[in-house]
Amino acid sequence: MNIEFQLRANLKCSGSLRGTVSPSEITEFVRACNAGLLKRGAPPGCGAKVVWWQVAGSEGEEIWLEIVSDRFVRAHDALFRLKKEFGKFLGRRRVGVRSVEIEEYEIAVEWDEAGEREAGEGEAEAGLRLRLKKLPFVKEIKQEAVAGEKRQLRLSLAVDEAGLEQRIPDRLLKLLEEKKEAASWKGKSEHWELLFESEKKQFYFEKDPTEEMARRGWIKHAAGRGQWIFGPQATRIFRALERVLLTEVCKPLGYEEMIFPKFVPWEVWKRSGHAKGIYPEAYYVCTPKTRDPEFWEEVADYYKVTGEVPREKIMQKIECVGGLCYAQCPPFWVFLQGKTLADECLPIKVFDRSGTSHRYESGGLHGIERLDEFHRVELVWLGTKEQVQEHAKELQERYRRVFSEVLDLEWREAWVTPWFLAQEGRAGLAASKEVGTADYEAVLPYSGKWLEFQNVSVNGDKYPKGFSVKLQSGAELWSGCSGVGLERWAAVLLAQKGLEKEKWSARFRAAAGLGGEGEREGELPEVFKFL
Ligand code: ATP
Ligand code: ZN
Ligand code: MG
Repeated sequence: MNIEFQLRANLKCSGSLRGTVSPSEITEFVRACNAGLLKRGAPPGCGAKVVWWQVAGSEGEEIWLEIVSDRFVRAHDALFRLKKEFGKFLGRRRVGVRSVEIEEYEIAVEWDEAGEREAGEGEAEAGLRLRLKKLPFVKEIKQEAVAGEKRQLRLSLAVDEAGLEQRIPDRLLKLLEEKKEAASWKGKSEHWELLFESEKKQFYFEKDPTEEMARRGWIKHAAGRGQWIFGPQATRIFRALERVLLTEVCKPLGYEEMIFPKFVPWEVWKRSGHAKGIYPEAYYVCTPKTRDPEFWEEVADYYKVTGEVPREKIMQKIECVGGLCYAQCPPFWVFLQGKTLADECLPIKVFDRSGTSHRYESGGLHGIERLDEFHRVELVWLGTKEQVQEHAKELQERYRRVFSEVLDLEWREAWVTPWFLAQEGRAGLAASKEVGTADYEAVLPYSGKWLEFQNVSVNGDKYPKGFSVKLQSGAELWSGCSGVGLERWAAVLLAQKGLEKEKWSARFRAAAGLGGEGEREGELPEVFKFL
């Protein structure tokens, strides 16, 4: 990527330069910097250059200058080098550099949209341009044609010295690279590769189980969007599924239960990577700016007088501190944050089933299959790379047995884009065989569609790195996780087998206390009767 930087800055000094240094001394200073300091580290003929300067200010206490550069010594790095050197140069004369003001900073980037054009029509190109309407710390974005087919992107930055110290320009360039990459994946489908397919199974139902359960009064839509109240019958089914998971998978594989937090502060999502892209799907959590009742009195009064909750007023009195649980494992990692694990405790296997998960699914909501509030058990394991990969295999083996033998499902397993790349907006990145996600899908007879009902992911060193967790031996610490959606398990089972318990497998009936192998016949609980 060809890049040009053009920076105009104002170095404010503690005293007048007039009479202190002669113009020819400054000329010589600048010449020397251009020849040495501003080229340091760059290939021959490359680097930065001061192309113009002038002593200014009412007292002559400022020096204005313009630096142009290539990507080898970026103009802001050149400016910092220059500021330091100029400080030394003036120091001998008892004058110092007080501060730096950035008057103008333009970055021109070669913007070859070839990838986009390949993808087809000018529409894609327009889409890319559209998305570049706004960038942080950028006042203006211009896209212009340069020689021939080439186009360039000209960014006019709004940054101060602190912003340059934070490396905002470098991060912006990285962001552009990522956006370009993302645009080239747009329209390409996510990776999907069949790993395993079960035999065909007998189906006993052809309706949508959500509708049938609602009709029978087993479940009812709750007041919130994508939220259901599960009656005693449905709850019995969920708990039975959970019991199957615990007795067939967690227990034999040596898992211990933990309770993970369900409110997730920004700090956690920054470390887990979710802060890069969770925004359109997050359920946001806010706290009052103060719990002083006087501060809130007008809100309560408004409600008492109108019967309406004044949401706009509330928005001004609260602060967004994070979100509700989206994926279960990120807040768990705080337990290990900054620690070194003893080799002898590996591999570690824990699971959480302590609360709900929340995602804003927008128009995608459907029955109990796609909800805004759902129930999931998440298994997390950690160890050396070999241990983590080995355990993922054991886990996959157990799951296969559960789906084929215990639940008697028709299902398949596929290697897909790892969830963390998808969630970070990097879906489409070629999935490696070492790190990645296996999705479990089952066919829903009523629609003929396949539904993902759980996954197994090997996350590599992503979480240990993000939360600074180390291993005694110094070897790389890896981890994996598996999210088991209870509503999805239920949706799949009921869609294939129906709501009559006689059609469920004996082992599942036993788990539900409904008379399985050698058990007394039981019934699903009937609690409510309506008039
Ligand atoms: P989908 O592609 O269906 O949106 P996902 O890839 O977003 O799923 P993951 O992030 O892999 O799902 O979440 C792990 C598991 O959590 C899923 O396999 C599923 O069991 C459950 N899950 C995720 N989103 C929902 C939802 N909206 N409603 C119910 N269960 C869900
Ligand atoms: Zn996880
Ligand atoms: Mg999803």
